[in-house]
Amino acid sequence: MQPGRPPALEVVVAGAGPAGLSAAAACAAAGLRTALVAPALRPWPHTYCLWAEELTAAAGALGLDAGAVAAVHPTVVVRTAAGGERRLGRRYARLRNDVLHAALLDRARAHGAHLVDGRVEALRAEGGGEVAVLADGTELRAGAVLDARGAGPGTAQQRAWGEVVAGPVDALVPPGSALLMDWTALAGTGGSPAFLYGLPLDDGTTLLEATSLAARPPVPLPDLRARLAALLESAGLRPVGPPERVAIPLDARPRRSGPGTPLGAAAGMVHPATGYSVGASLQLGPRVAAVLAAGGDAGAARRAVLTARRRATAGLLGVGLEVLLPLDAAATDAFFAAFFTLPERSWAAYLSTEAAPGEVAAAMAGTFAALPAAQRRSLLRTVARLGGAQTAGRLRALTGRPRRP
Ligand SMILES: Cc1cc2nc3c(=O)[nH]c(=O)nc-3n(C[C@H](O)[C@H](O)[C@H](O)COP(=O)(O)OP(=O)(O)OC[C@H]3O[C@@H](n4cnc5c(N)ncnc54)[C@H](O)[C@@H]3O)c2cc1C
Repeated sequence: MQPGRPPALEVVVAGAGPAGLSAAAACAAAGLRTALVAPALRPWPHTYCLWAEELTAAAGALGLDAGAVAAVHPTVVVRTAAGGERRLGRRYARLRNDVLHAALLDRARAHGAHLVDGRVEALRAEGGGEVAVLADGTELRAGAVLDARGAGPGTAQQRAWGEVVAGPVDALVPPGSALLMDWTALAGTGGSPAFLYGLPLDDGTTLLEATSLAARPPVPLPDLRARLAALLESAGLRPVGPPERVAIPLDARPRRSGPGTPLGAAAGMVHPATGYSVGASLQLGPRVAAVLAAGGDAGAARRAVLTARRRATAGLLGVGLEVLLPLDAAATDAFFAAFFTLPERSWAAYLSTEAAPGEVAAAMAGTFAALPAAQRRSLLRTVARLGGAQTAGRLRALTGRPRRP
Protein backbone atom coordinates (compact mmCIF):
# COMPACT_ATOMS: atom_id res chain seq x y z
CA MET A 1 0.00 0.00 0.00
CA GLN A 2 1.13 3.56 -0.63
CA PRO A 3 1.89 5.89 2.28
CA GLY A 4 0.72 9.49 2.37
CA ARG A 5 -2.32 11.26 1.08
CA PRO A 6 -3.26 10.91 -2.60
CA PRO A 7 -4.10 14.33 -4.09
CA ALA A 8 -7.28 15.57 -5.78
CA LEU A 9 -9.40 12.50 -5.42
CA GLU A 10 -12.76 12.01 -7.06
CA VAL A 11 -13.76 8.89 -5.08
CA VAL A 12 -12.74 7.36 -1.78
CA VAL A 13 -13.91 3.81 -1.14
CA ALA A 14 -13.92 2.64 2.49
CA GLY A 15 -13.63 -1.13 2.90
CA ALA A 16 -12.31 -3.87 0.61
CA GLY A 17 -14.89 -6.62 0.91
CA PRO A 18 -16.57 -7.73 -2.32
CA ALA A 19 -18.62 -4.50 -2.45
CA GLY A 20 -15.75 -2.09 -1.80
CA LEU A 21 -13.07 -3.75 -3.91
CA SER A 22 -15.36 -4.16 -6.92
CA ALA A 23 -16.53 -0.55 -6.62
CA ALA A 24 -12.94 0.72 -6.36
CA ALA A 25 -11.90 -1.30 -9.41
CA ALA A 26 -14.92 -0.02 -11.34
CA CYS A 27 -14.35 3.62 -10.34
CA ALA A 28 -10.65 3.51 -11.27
CA ALA A 29 -11.42 1.79 -14.57
CA ALA A 30 -14.04 4.48 -15.29
CA GLY A 31 -11.23 7.03 -15.14
CA LEU A 32 -12.03 8.41 -11.68
CA ARG A 33 -9.14 9.29 -9.37
CA THR A 34 -9.85 6.71 -6.69
CA ALA A 35 -8.47 5.79 -3.28
CA LEU A 36 -9.35 2.53 -1.56
CA VAL A 37 -8.93 2.57 2.23
CA ALA A 38 -8.84 -0.80 3.98
CA PRO A 39 -7.12 -2.33 6.99
CA ALA A 40 -6.07 -5.32 4.87
CA LEU A 41 -6.05 -6.40 1.23
CA ARG A 42 -6.15 -10.17 1.45
CA PRO A 43 -8.47 -12.52 -0.45
CA TRP A 44 -11.69 -12.94 1.51
CA PRO A 45 -11.69 -16.08 3.65
CA HIS A 46 -15.40 -16.92 3.28
CA THR A 47 -16.94 -19.24 0.73
CA TYR A 48 -19.00 -16.94 -1.47
CA CYS A 49 -21.68 -18.12 -3.90
CA LEU A 50 -24.12 -16.35 -6.16
CA TRP A 51 -26.32 -17.22 -9.11
CA ALA A 52 -24.27 -17.59 -12.29
CA GLU A 53 -26.44 -15.03 -14.10
CA GLU A 54 -25.52 -12.43 -11.45
CA LEU A 55 -21.84 -13.08 -12.08
CA THR A 56 -22.33 -12.89 -15.85
CA ALA A 57 -24.15 -9.58 -15.42
CA ALA A 58 -21.27 -8.16 -13.36
CA ALA A 59 -18.34 -9.67 -15.25
CA GLY A 60 -18.32 -7.42 -18.31
CA ALA A 61 -18.37 -4.14 -16.40
CA LEU A 62 -15.66 -5.39 -14.01
CA GLY A 63 -13.47 -6.81 -16.80
CA LEU A 64 -13.69 -10.30 -15.30
CA ASP A 65 -13.38 -13.66 -16.98
CA ALA A 66 -16.48 -15.26 -15.44
CA GLY A 67 -15.20 -18.75 -16.25
CA ALA A 68 -11.99 -18.16 -14.31
CA VAL A 69 -13.30 -16.39 -11.21
CA ALA A 70 -15.93 -19.00 -10.33
CA ALA A 71 -16.79 -22.67 -10.51
CA VAL A 72 -20.32 -23.11 -11.83
CA HIS A 73 -22.72 -25.91 -10.87
CA PRO A 74 -25.41 -26.50 -13.53
CA THR A 75 -28.11 -27.46 -11.00
CA VAL A 76 -28.99 -26.94 -7.37
CA VAL A 77 -30.77 -29.49 -5.21
CA VAL A 78 -33.44 -28.74 -2.61
CA ARG A 79 -34.68 -31.52 -0.31
CA THR A 80 -37.63 -31.30 2.04
CA ALA A 81 -39.58 -33.96 3.90
CA ALA A 82 -42.83 -32.49 2.59
CA GLY A 83 -41.82 -32.17 -1.07
CA GLY A 84 -39.00 -34.67 -1.63
CA GLU A 85 -35.98 -33.84 -3.78
CA ARG A 86 -36.06 -31.16 -6.45
CA ARG A 87 -33.27 -30.56 -8.96
CA LEU A 88 -33.48 -26.98 -10.14
CA GLY A 89 -31.76 -26.06 -13.38
CA ARG A 90 -30.51 -22.65 -12.26
CA ARG A 91 -26.74 -22.27 -12.49
CA TYR A 92 -25.01 -21.56 -9.19
CA ALA A 93 -21.50 -20.13 -8.97
CA ARG A 94 -18.88 -20.48 -6.23
CA LEU A 95 -16.38 -17.67 -6.38
CA ARG A 96 -12.69 -18.48 -6.52
CA ASN A 97 -11.84 -15.72 -4.08
CA ASP A 98 -8.11 -15.69 -4.78
CA VAL A 99 -8.65 -15.30 -8.54
CA LEU A 100 -11.44 -12.73 -8.22
CA HIS A 101 -9.65 -10.70 -5.55
CA ALA A 102 -6.45 -10.59 -7.59
CA ALA A 103 -8.35 -9.62 -10.75
CA LEU A 104 -10.16 -6.74 -9.05
CA LEU A 105 -7.04 -5.53 -7.27
CA ASP A 106 -5.03 -5.68 -10.51
CA ARG A 107 -7.74 -3.71 -12.29
CA ALA A 108 -7.80 -1.06 -9.56
CA ARG A 109 -4.00 -0.77 -9.56
CA ALA A 110 -3.69 -0.80 -13.34
CA HIS A 111 -6.05 2.18 -13.50
CA GLY A 112 -4.12 4.12 -10.91
CA ALA A 113 -6.15 3.58 -7.73
CA HIS A 114 -4.35 4.60 -4.54
CA LEU A 115 -4.39 1.80 -1.97
CA VAL A 116 -4.37 3.25 1.52
CA ASP A 117 -3.65 1.08 4.53
CA GLY A 118 -5.98 2.31 7.27
CA ARG A 119 -9.45 2.54 8.72
CA VAL A 120 -12.06 5.17 7.95
CA GLU A 121 -13.39 6.40 11.29
CA ALA A 122 -15.68 9.25 10.24
CA LEU A 123 -17.25 10.86 7.19
CA ARG A 124 -18.30 14.45 6.71
CA ALA A 125 -19.63 16.63 3.94
CA GLU A 126 -17.52 19.65 3.08
CA GLY A 127 -17.44 22.18 0.30
CA GLY A 128 -19.64 20.26 -2.11
CA GLY A 129 -17.65 17.07 -1.62
CA GLU A 130 -17.07 14.50 1.13
CA VAL A 131 -14.20 13.80 3.51
CA ALA A 132 -13.12 10.44 4.93
CA VAL A 133 -11.30 10.80 8.23
CA LEU A 134 -8.90 7.94 8.93
CA ALA A 135 -8.01 6.56 12.35
CA ASP A 136 -4.55 8.17 12.17
CA GLY A 137 -6.12 11.58 11.52
CA THR A 138 -5.48 11.64 7.75
CA GLU A 139 -8.32 13.33 5.87
CA LEU A 140 -9.11 12.22 2.32
CA ARG A 141 -11.25 14.70 0.35
CA ALA A 142 -13.17 13.55 -2.69
CA GLY A 143 -16.29 14.25 -4.68
CA ALA A 144 -17.88 11.17 -3.09
CA VAL A 145 -17.04 8.62 -0.42
CA LEU A 146 -18.39 5.10 -0.97
CA ASP A 147 -18.91 3.41 2.39
CA ALA A 148 -18.44 -0.36 2.04
CA ARG A 149 -17.36 -1.06 5.62
CA GLY A 150 -19.83 -3.93 6.09
CA ALA A 151 -22.94 -4.33 8.21
CA GLY A 152 -23.65 -3.71 11.86
CA PRO A 153 -24.58 -6.66 14.09
CA GLY A 154 -28.37 -6.83 13.65
CA THR A 155 -30.62 -8.92 15.91
CA ALA A 156 -31.38 -11.85 13.58
CA GLN A 157 -28.59 -13.81 11.98
CA GLN A 158 -27.93 -16.66 9.65
CA ARG A 159 -25.41 -18.99 11.24
CA ALA A 160 -23.63 -22.05 9.90
CA TRP A 161 -20.86 -24.41 10.84
CA GLY A 162 -19.05 -25.96 7.90
CA GLU A 163 -16.53 -28.76 7.53
CA VAL A 164 -14.64 -29.91 4.46
CA VAL A 165 -14.74 -33.67 3.93
CA ALA A 166 -12.65 -35.81 1.58
CA GLY A 167 -13.99 -36.56 -1.90
CA PRO A 168 -17.44 -36.13 -3.39
CA VAL A 169 -20.41 -37.14 -1.23
CA ASP A 170 -22.82 -38.16 -3.98
CA ALA A 171 -25.54 -39.35 -1.60
CA LEU A 172 -25.89 -35.83 -0.21
CA VAL A 173 -24.60 -33.63 -3.05
CA PRO A 174 -25.45 -35.27 -6.39
CA PRO A 175 -22.73 -34.94 -9.07
CA GLY A 176 -22.95 -31.71 -11.08
CA SER A 177 -24.97 -29.92 -8.44
CA ALA A 178 -24.71 -27.81 -5.34
CA LEU A 179 -26.91 -28.71 -2.39
CA LEU A 180 -28.79 -25.47 -1.74
CA MET A 181 -30.91 -26.75 1.14
CA ASP A 182 -31.57 -30.18 2.59
CA TRP A 183 -34.06 -29.83 5.42
CA THR A 184 -34.12 -33.62 5.99
CA ALA A 185 -30.43 -34.38 6.63
CA LEU A 186 -30.16 -32.78 10.09
CA ALA A 187 -33.70 -33.63 11.20
CA GLY A 188 -32.63 -36.17 13.82
CA THR A 189 -29.79 -34.07 15.25
CA GLY A 190 -31.60 -31.29 17.13
CA GLY A 191 -34.79 -29.31 17.44
CA SER A 192 -34.37 -25.92 15.81
CA PRO A 193 -34.77 -25.52 12.03
CA ALA A 194 -31.46 -26.24 10.32
CA PHE A 195 -30.56 -27.47 6.86
CA LEU A 196 -27.53 -29.03 5.25
CA TYR A 197 -25.73 -27.00 2.58
CA GLY A 198 -23.19 -28.72 0.35
CA LEU A 199 -20.67 -27.59 -2.24
CA PRO A 200 -18.12 -29.54 -4.24
CA LEU A 201 -14.77 -27.71 -4.10
CA ASP A 202 -12.08 -27.40 -6.80
CA ASP A 203 -9.74 -29.93 -5.16
CA GLY A 204 -12.36 -32.70 -5.16
CA THR A 205 -13.36 -32.26 -1.51
CA THR A 206 -16.85 -31.25 -0.38
CA LEU A 207 -17.91 -28.46 1.97
CA LEU A 208 -20.87 -29.42 4.16
CA GLU A 209 -22.52 -26.85 6.41
CA ALA A 210 -25.17 -27.17 9.12
CA THR A 211 -27.07 -23.94 8.61
CA SER A 212 -29.61 -22.01 10.62
CA LEU A 213 -31.24 -19.93 7.90
CA ALA A 214 -32.49 -17.19 10.20
CA ALA A 215 -32.90 -16.96 13.96
CA ARG A 216 -33.37 -14.23 16.54
CA PRO A 217 -31.42 -14.62 18.77
CA PRO A 218 -28.94 -16.42 16.51
CA VAL A 219 -28.38 -20.16 17.02
CA PRO A 220 -25.09 -20.72 18.92
CA LEU A 221 -22.38 -22.00 16.56
CA PRO A 222 -21.48 -24.93 18.89
CA ASP A 223 -25.04 -26.27 18.41
CA LEU A 224 -24.57 -26.31 14.64
CA ARG A 225 -21.09 -27.82 14.99
CA ALA A 226 -22.55 -30.65 17.11
CA ARG A 227 -25.37 -31.28 14.64
CA LEU A 228 -22.97 -31.45 11.71
CA ALA A 229 -20.63 -33.73 13.68
CA ALA A 230 -23.53 -36.11 14.35
CA LEU A 231 -24.38 -36.22 10.65
CA LEU A 232 -20.75 -36.75 9.60
CA GLU A 233 -20.34 -39.54 12.10
CA SER A 234 -23.47 -41.35 10.94
CA ALA A 235 -22.28 -41.01 7.31
CA GLY A 236 -18.74 -42.17 8.14
CA LEU A 237 -17.24 -38.83 7.09
CA ARG A 238 -14.34 -36.96 8.74
CA PRO A 239 -13.33 -33.28 8.46
CA VAL A 240 -10.09 -32.78 6.54
CA GLY A 241 -9.53 -29.05 6.92
CA PRO A 242 -10.31 -26.01 9.02
CA PRO A 243 -14.00 -25.33 9.70
CA GLU A 244 -15.97 -22.45 8.20
CA ARG A 245 -17.90 -20.33 10.67
CA VAL A 246 -20.77 -18.31 9.24
CA ALA A 247 -22.54 -15.46 11.02
CA ILE A 248 -24.46 -13.07 8.77
CA PRO A 249 -26.58 -10.26 10.23
CA LEU A 250 -29.93 -10.31 8.43
CA ASP A 251 -31.59 -7.18 9.76
CA ALA A 252 -28.70 -4.75 10.29
CA ARG A 253 -29.78 -1.16 9.72
CA PRO A 254 -28.42 0.33 6.50
CA ARG A 255 -26.31 3.50 6.80
CA ARG A 256 -28.86 5.74 5.13
CA SER A 257 -28.21 9.01 6.95
CA GLY A 258 -25.18 11.27 6.96
CA PRO A 259 -22.55 11.68 4.28
CA GLY A 260 -21.17 8.85 2.19
CA THR A 261 -22.87 6.45 -0.18
CA PRO A 262 -23.35 3.05 1.46
CA LEU A 263 -22.59 -0.01 -0.64
CA GLY A 264 -23.03 -3.74 -0.07
CA ALA A 265 -23.85 -4.90 3.45
CA ALA A 266 -23.46 -1.31 4.72
CA ALA A 267 -26.33 -0.35 2.40
CA GLY A 268 -28.64 -3.06 3.73
CA MET A 269 -28.11 -5.16 0.60
CA VAL A 270 -27.89 -8.43 2.53
CA HIS A 271 -30.96 -10.48 1.66
CA PRO A 272 -32.97 -10.79 4.89
CA ALA A 273 -33.88 -14.42 4.29
CA THR A 274 -30.78 -15.84 2.60
CA GLY A 275 -27.85 -13.70 3.78
CA TYR A 276 -26.65 -13.18 0.20
CA SER A 277 -25.37 -9.82 -1.05
CA VAL A 278 -22.28 -10.50 -3.13
CA GLY A 279 -24.06 -10.98 -6.48
CA ALA A 280 -25.94 -7.70 -6.06
CA SER A 281 -22.85 -5.83 -4.83
CA LEU A 282 -20.69 -6.90 -7.78
CA GLN A 283 -23.32 -5.48 -10.12
CA LEU A 284 -23.89 -2.25 -8.23
CA GLY A 285 -20.29 -0.97 -8.00
CA PRO A 286 -19.95 -0.41 -11.77
CA ARG A 287 -23.35 1.35 -11.87
CA VAL A 288 -22.30 3.81 -9.17
CA ALA A 289 -18.96 4.30 -10.94
CA ALA A 290 -20.84 5.13 -14.16
CA VAL A 291 -22.97 7.72 -12.35
CA LEU A 292 -19.88 9.43 -10.91
CA ALA A 293 -17.92 9.20 -14.18
CA ALA A 294 -20.83 10.90 -15.96
CA GLY A 295 -20.39 13.88 -13.63
CA GLY A 296 -22.81 12.88 -10.89
CA ASP A 297 -22.03 14.13 -7.38
CA ALA A 298 -22.26 12.36 -4.02
CA GLY A 299 -26.02 12.91 -3.97
CA ALA A 300 -26.40 11.23 -7.36
CA ALA A 301 -24.34 8.26 -6.14
CA ARG A 302 -26.57 7.92 -3.07
CA ARG A 303 -29.69 8.09 -5.20
CA ALA A 304 -28.31 5.32 -7.43
CA VAL A 305 -28.01 3.04 -4.39
CA LEU A 306 -30.85 4.07 -2.09
CA THR A 307 -33.62 3.81 -4.65
CA ALA A 308 -37.30 3.69 -3.73
CA ARG A 309 -37.53 0.32 -5.51
CA ARG A 310 -34.67 -1.23 -3.53
CA ARG A 311 -36.16 0.16 -0.32
CA ALA A 312 -39.61 -1.22 -1.08
CA THR A 313 -38.20 -4.65 -1.96
CA ALA A 314 -36.12 -4.64 1.24
CA GLY A 315 -39.24 -3.80 3.24
CA LEU A 316 -41.14 -6.76 1.79
CA LEU A 317 -38.21 -9.14 2.27
CA GLY A 318 -37.99 -7.91 5.86
CA VAL A 319 -41.61 -8.96 6.39
CA GLY A 320 -40.65 -12.32 4.84
CA LEU A 321 -37.89 -12.69 7.43
CA GLU A 322 -40.32 -12.03 10.28
CA VAL A 323 -42.64 -14.70 8.86
CA LEU A 324 -39.82 -17.27 8.80
CA LEU A 325 -38.43 -16.58 12.28
CA PRO A 326 -41.22 -18.19 14.38
CA LEU A 327 -41.51 -21.35 12.23
CA ASP A 328 -40.49 -24.65 13.81
CA ALA A 329 -38.52 -27.27 11.88
CA ALA A 330 -41.58 -28.98 10.35
CA ALA A 331 -43.20 -25.70 9.34
CA THR A 332 -39.94 -24.43 7.81
CA ASP A 333 -39.64 -27.66 5.82
CA ALA A 334 -43.22 -27.26 4.56
CA PHE A 335 -42.57 -23.60 3.76
CA PHE A 336 -39.64 -24.38 1.47
CA ALA A 337 -41.44 -27.36 -0.07
CA ALA A 338 -44.16 -24.87 -1.08
CA PHE A 339 -41.72 -22.12 -2.07
CA PHE A 340 -39.87 -24.30 -4.57
CA THR A 341 -43.09 -25.34 -6.30
CA LEU A 342 -43.20 -21.78 -7.66
CA PRO A 343 -42.01 -21.16 -11.23
CA GLU A 344 -38.27 -20.43 -11.26
CA ARG A 345 -38.72 -16.79 -12.25
CA SER A 346 -40.89 -16.30 -9.16
CA TRP A 347 -38.67 -17.99 -6.55
CA ALA A 348 -35.61 -16.43 -8.18
CA ALA A 349 -37.17 -12.99 -7.81
CA TYR A 350 -37.80 -13.61 -4.12
CA LEU A 351 -34.16 -14.56 -3.62
CA SER A 352 -32.94 -11.24 -5.05
CA THR A 353 -32.74 -7.90 -3.29
CA GLU A 354 -32.73 -6.39 -6.79
CA ALA A 355 -36.16 -7.71 -7.81
CA ALA A 356 -39.11 -5.38 -8.21
CA PRO A 357 -41.40 -5.23 -5.16
CA GLY A 358 -44.29 -6.56 -7.25
CA GLU A 359 -42.28 -9.67 -8.16
CA VAL A 360 -41.43 -10.29 -4.50
CA ALA A 361 -45.05 -9.78 -3.46
CA ALA A 362 -46.17 -12.23 -6.17
CA ALA A 363 -43.72 -14.86 -4.89
CA MET A 364 -45.04 -14.32 -1.35
CA ALA A 365 -48.62 -14.74 -2.52
CA GLY A 366 -47.70 -17.83 -4.54
CA THR A 367 -45.97 -19.46 -1.57
CA PHE A 368 -48.90 -18.64 0.68
CA ALA A 369 -51.31 -20.27 -1.76
CA ALA A 370 -49.12 -23.40 -1.99
CA LEU A 371 -48.92 -23.91 1.80
CA PRO A 372 -51.13 -26.39 3.66
CA ALA A 373 -54.25 -24.71 5.10
CA ALA A 374 -53.10 -25.01 8.74
CA GLN A 375 -49.85 -23.27 7.93
CA ARG A 376 -51.62 -20.54 6.02
CA ARG A 377 -53.69 -19.80 9.13
CA SER A 378 -50.61 -19.72 11.35
CA LEU A 379 -48.78 -17.48 8.87
CA LEU A 380 -51.71 -15.05 8.92
CA ARG A 381 -51.56 -15.02 12.74
CA THR A 382 -47.84 -14.15 12.52
CA VAL A 383 -48.53 -11.30 10.13
CA ALA A 384 -51.29 -10.04 12.45
CA ARG A 385 -48.92 -10.27 15.45
CA LEU A 386 -46.37 -8.23 13.51
CA GLY A 387 -48.86 -5.34 13.93
CA GLY A 388 -48.24 -2.08 15.75
CA ALA A 389 -44.80 -0.50 15.61
CA GLN A 390 -43.19 -3.21 13.55
CA THR A 391 -45.76 -3.11 10.77
CA ALA A 392 -45.65 0.67 10.83
CA GLY A 393 -41.87 0.48 10.47
CA ARG A 394 -42.15 -1.93 7.56
CA LEU A 395 -44.77 0.24 5.90
CA ARG A 396 -42.55 3.27 6.34
CA ALA A 397 -39.75 1.30 4.67
CA LEU A 398 -42.12 0.31 1.86
CA THR A 399 -43.41 3.80 1.25
CA GLY A 400 -40.15 5.58 2.06
CA ARG A 401 -42.06 7.91 4.44
CA PRO A 402 -40.05 9.41 7.30
CA ARG A 403 -40.96 8.71 10.94
CA ARG A 404 -43.26 11.33 12.47
CA PRO A 405 -41.63 13.39 15.23
C1 LIG B 1 -18.60 -17.53 6.08
C2 LIG B 1 -19.51 -16.64 5.29
C3 LIG B 1 -20.02 -17.08 4.09
C4 LIG B 1 -20.84 -16.24 3.32
N1 LIG B 1 -21.31 -16.71 2.13
C5 LIG B 1 -21.98 -15.86 1.33
C6 LIG B 1 -22.37 -16.27 0.03
O1 LIG B 1 -22.17 -17.42 -0.38
N2 LIG B 1 -23.00 -15.37 -0.79
C7 LIG B 1 -23.26 -14.10 -0.37
O2 LIG B 1 -23.79 -13.32 -1.15
N3 LIG B 1 -22.93 -13.70 0.89
C8 LIG B 1 -22.31 -14.54 1.73
N4 LIG B 1 -21.96 -14.15 2.99
C9 LIG B 1 -22.39 -12.86 3.46
C10 LIG B 1 -21.26 -11.91 3.16
O3 LIG B 1 -20.38 -11.66 4.21
C11 LIG B 1 -21.61 -10.57 3.03
O4 LIG B 1 -22.83 -10.52 2.40
C12 LIG B 1 -20.48 -9.88 2.23
O5 LIG B 1 -19.19 -10.15 2.73
C13 LIG B 1 -20.70 -8.43 2.33
O6 LIG B 1 -19.72 -7.81 1.54
P1 LIG B 1 -19.38 -6.31 1.78
O7 LIG B 1 -18.22 -6.01 0.89
O8 LIG B 1 -20.58 -5.48 1.70
O9 LIG B 1 -18.90 -6.24 3.32
P2 LIG B 1 -17.76 -7.04 4.04
O10 LIG B 1 -17.42 -8.29 3.34
O11 LIG B 1 -18.16 -7.12 5.47
O12 LIG B 1 -16.49 -6.10 3.89
C14 LIG B 1 -16.32 -4.94 4.66
C15 LIG B 1 -14.85 -4.59 4.60
O13 LIG B 1 -14.65 -3.34 5.22
C16 LIG B 1 -13.51 -3.39 6.02
N5 LIG B 1 -13.67 -2.41 7.08
C17 LIG B 1 -14.35 -2.52 8.23
N6 LIG B 1 -14.25 -1.38 8.94
C18 LIG B 1 -13.51 -0.54 8.20
C19 LIG B 1 -13.07 0.79 8.40
N7 LIG B 1 -13.38 1.46 9.52
N8 LIG B 1 -12.34 1.38 7.44
C20 LIG B 1 -12.01 0.71 6.30
N9 LIG B 1 -12.38 -0.57 6.07
C21 LIG B 1 -13.13 -1.17 7.01
C22 LIG B 1 -13.46 -4.81 6.54
O14 LIG B 1 -12.14 -5.15 6.88
C23 LIG B 1 -13.98 -5.59 5.35
O15 LIG B 1 -12.93 -6.00 4.52
C24 LIG B 1 -21.16 -14.96 3.79
C25 LIG B 1 -20.65 -14.53 5.01
C26 LIG B 1 -19.85 -15.36 5.76
C27 LIG B 1 -19.34 -14.86 7.09
